[in-house]
Amino acid sequence: MAEVLVLAELDPAGGGVRKTTLEALTAARALGEPSAVVLGAPGTASGVRDQLAEYGAATVYVAESEDVDAYLVAPKAEVLAQLVSEKSPAAVVIPSSPEGKEIAARLAIKTGSGFLTDVTEIASDGTATQVAFAGATIVHSQVTVGTPIYTLRGNSVTPEPAPAAGTEQSVAVSISDAAKQVRVVERVVEQKSNRPELTEASIVVSGGRGVASAENFSIIEGLADSLGAAVGASRAAVDSGFYPHSFQVGQTGKTVSPNLYVAVGISGAIQHRAGMQTSKTIVAINKDPEAPIFELADFGVIGDLNTVVPAATEQINAR
Ligand code: FAD
Repeated sequence: MAEVLVLAELDPAGGGVRKTTLEALTAARALGEPSAVVLGAPGTASGVRDQLAEYGAATVYVAESEDVDAYLVAPKAEVLAQLVSEKSPAAVVIPSSPEGKEIAARLAIKTGSGFLTDVTEIASDGTATQVAFAGATIVHSQVTVGTPIYTLRGNSVTPEPAPAAGTEQSVAVSISDAAKQVRVVERVVEQKSNRPELTEASIVVSGGRGVASAENFSIIEGLADSLGAAVGASRAAVDSGFYPHSFQVGQTGKTVSPNLYVAVGISGAIQHRAGMQTSKTIVAINKDPEAPIFELADFGVIGDLNTVVPAATEQINAR
């Protein structure tokens, strides 16, 4: 069976591989037999090999070196390019994080390949699905040059275990000076909350300008906690100082694709939609029946969020 390389994305806080990696391993199985690639400082792979094997990695290529960790992105693209040249895989699948997309772009240049970003599905013939123009268009594309490289949008695929050997193979790492141009000076891991990570959460509750203040975001957090959800925010809420920028959903924020997205006091501007419209079910709570978010929503509640949200939270908590 053809080999498909899958770049493992690791939790920077040391919590193993990210869910996006398990999704990428699952999607890669449509194209062949996945092999995971672990890139990082010495010791990185030891805690993640079993999980990668459980989700279908027949081989786990381990490229551990201080240099891979000490410089931004370029060394990772270089090691992956080396593996593509040695193994001639049928494809490469990379989680669609900002770093993943940059690695994919650099890898495409190094290997002379076509690449498709933010795909939501990969078919067995290599055809990838993308959502374009803020959801107005679905695009099906195939790479025609080189080794197809895909970045897979988070939450597009449900991770499914498929136990495989997970045979470890170490990769000799030699990083060129050209790839050592941007050194990592400091890594600051965002404070871990008990809530799920925004881009990986299966439920997201987002608040907008309608929430009206930073203090009032506690009602968004209350609903989120009753559902085991992550909290998101519109840009207007972020710009108004109601919630930190790292929680912004949209064109200039994060892209989410949860099973359930609850938009509270959010009008539904196209730039916000760009970050959440592939959510499976969308619920909008807005006092304005004409708000554009209702065009997108599967369920809508017309009402004052200060009444509707606490009432919903109470009902959910009572169950
Ligand atoms: P508003 O549009 O002001 O809507 C607030 C809504 O709350 C209204 O519909 C109102 O009816 C409702 N409301 C008010 N009070 C209540 C109440 N008590 N109960 C219930 N409902 C209430 N936006 C993003 O979100 N993410 C992005 O990444 C992003 N990137 C952008 C990039 C560019 C280049 C540009 C130009 C804009 C971008 N924007 C982005 C901004 C975007 O255009 C909108 O301005 C923004 O999404 C509006 O946020 P909002 O829906 O919270 O606020």
